[in-house]
Amino acid sequence: SAKEKGRNQFHFFDPDLDEHRKQKREQLIEISRALENEEFCLYFQPQILLSDNQLTGMEALIRWQHPQRGLLSPGQFLPTVENSYLEVPLGQWVLKEAMHQVNTWKEAGHQLGVSINISAQHLMDRTFAGYLESYLHSHPELDPGLITLEVLESTALEDTKQASNVLTHCRELGLQVGLDDFGTGFSSLTYLRTLPVDMIKIDQSFVLNMLDNANDRAIVESVIFLAQRFSRPVLAEGVETLEHARVLRSMGCDQIQGYGIARPMPAEEVLTWVSGWQQKRTSGSGPESSGIAAS
Ligand code: C2E
Ligand code: MG
Ligand code: MG
Ligand code: MG
Repeated sequence: SAKEKGRNQFHFFDPDLDEHRKQKREQLIEISRALENEEFCLYFQPQILLSDNQLTGMEALIRWQHPQRGLLSPGQFLPTVENSYLEVPLGQWVLKEAMHQVNTWKEAGHQLGVSINISAQHLMDRTFAGYLESYLHSHPELDPGLITLEVLESTALEDTKQASNVLTHCRELGLQVGLDDFGTGFSSLTYLRTLPVDMIKIDQSFVLNMLDNANDRAIVESVIFLAQRFSRPVLAEGVETLEHARVLRSMGCDQIQGYGIARPMPAEEVLTWVSGWQQKRTSGSGPESSGIAAS
């Protein structure tokens, strides 16, 4: 019957799915054009030591300065890029741009590290370590120890053996490896056990609510304990208030990052912010004036 036929047709032609694919294809063309037109840029968010408020580095966070839609955050375009032919080119652009910034800062007299977010597909791409190796080779002035690769434990690193090999290669090049959004994936402990990591980042979702939620607080405390047992420094994201910083310090957390220190800022603002921060740190007024006290 016609009805039956219609039902069968559903299997090879779903108009919604087709429309979705078409949209995705168009978005990818737009993103690829944006990459050519240099519409992407990196914002930077400071990471500091809780012990003395010393700045350790900046996390690079991608933004798209869209000619019509304004400044877009990664959540608005990275899902489209994920698992597409653009994931590697965009990832390489981020690597190159972030490493270039480290040199720019160095030339301005600041020894500042950078943390770079790496997508799972990019990490698992056979070109990944080689790309870094040749970049470092052609930029001998760049100290690889200033670069941390932030790997998401929640993404498709199922083949932990391959991931582990790549990360080992990167560490041999002198780079640092951090486990991002720790605790949000299904296999956090497996990754911690198998992957060669230098530091752990506690996901902001736990930190944001830990002051009101006893479960979240217990998780934050346990991750800090775990990191200490693994002799790895631990950084808490999502530090929005002084109270967050106080509690994290009492728990023995090493580093923090969050709106309470600074929101992500464009590259042009970084050096001014850094000077301001260093002035506050060393002057009598103390870092209390910036919101986070080293009490
Ligand atoms: P992430 O790596 O966990 O980065 C932290 C996110 O939390 C950033 O969002 C940052 O702006 C936000 N954040 C920082 N401090 C606070 C705070 O105190 N409170 C709150 N509520 N949020 C805070 P953003 O920039 O939108 O990035 C979202 C995610 O997109 C990142 O999470 C990362 O997984 C991904 N991402 C960003 N840039 C890149 C990139 O260049 N490459 C790749 N592969 N992924 C990226
Ligand atoms: Mg990150
Ligand atoms: Mg994170
Ligand atoms: Mg995140």
